[in-house]
Amino acid sequence: MTTSAAANSPLGSLYVVATPIGNLDDISARALTILRSVALIAAEDTRHSARLMQHFGIGTPLAACHEHNERDQGGRFLARLLAGDDVALISDAGTPLISDPGYHLVRQARAAGVAVVPVPGACALIAALSAAGLPSDRFIFEGFLPAKAAGRRARLEQVKEEPRTLIFYEAPHRILECLQDMQSVFGDERPALLARELTKTFETLKGMPLAELAAWVAADSNQQRGECVVLVAGWQAPEGEEAVSAEAMRVLNLLLAEMPLKRAAALAAEITGVRKNLLYQVALEQQRDV
Ligand code: SAM
Repeated sequence: MTTSAAANSPLGSLYVVATPIGNLDDISARALTILRSVALIAAEDTRHSARLMQHFGIGTPLAACHEHNERDQGGRFLARLLAGDDVALISDAGTPLISDPGYHLVRQARAAGVAVVPVPGACALIAALSAAGLPSDRFIFEGFLPAKAAGRRARLEQVKEEPRTLIFYEAPHRILECLQDMQSVFGDERPALLARELTKTFETLKGMPLAELAAWVAADSNQQRGECVVLVAGWQAPEGEEAVSAEAMRVLNLLLAEMPLKRAAALAAEITGVRKNLLYQVALEQQRDV
């Protein structure tokens, strides 16, 4: 199994293969072909993946590649790749590396000149975003929030005025406190959506303002089970709030030429009276657009 990039290489290729997040029919025909044809499958949990392989009648050997052994065992997979064997990397569900192991192996392989080939498929955050009805032209993926309340709230404060749609993964036993913290940091009215058990029997997508969503989850313990993704609409300037004036932009840009972004935003805020966070976001947007 080769791609054009790998066609003439004596090295093997590393295929990064997405597997289903629930519904097994979501595996792609290409993923099945590759999983059958590679010499070895590096799997996050070999027992878990053995069931998937059995379901599809795939007999390729599996070897563990999880977050605890990935750095050490990477050499073992790399040796196979350098010897010319094709290897597939899979995680327990969805796309490897997305809140899952694989980053170190992919880096090592690329550094060694091995072709790394993505085989796309299911990914919970993309599935949720595609059906959420929240702005999807720009979004940020925050992964899992810190497990402890103080860390979680601190992180939420940092993204409070993020204008792009925010996407979080969360464990079911923390979903209620997570939504309640989001409500208190982002406000009662901020639009949000809980996507639970995607592609599975009890799939639920519930979109409403954060206060209502938190109350709905609190009132029904069934909503505190299974796997979930939380999406929150990005921050919008309250109506009537002044846009950043041309003069404030002039000051900001003068300072940006002289000092780091954070310091420039703070000083420009002092000089112009415009909120520091707003100037910070504007400066960030500017940098992104360059
Ligand atoms: N690599 C996976 C992906 O591509 O989405 C994510 C792995 S991460 C360890 C597991 C988290 O993804 C879960 O805690 C949940 O937040 C989210 N997730 C995975 N499957 C899901 C599903 N079927 N429905 C909703 N969320 C899911």
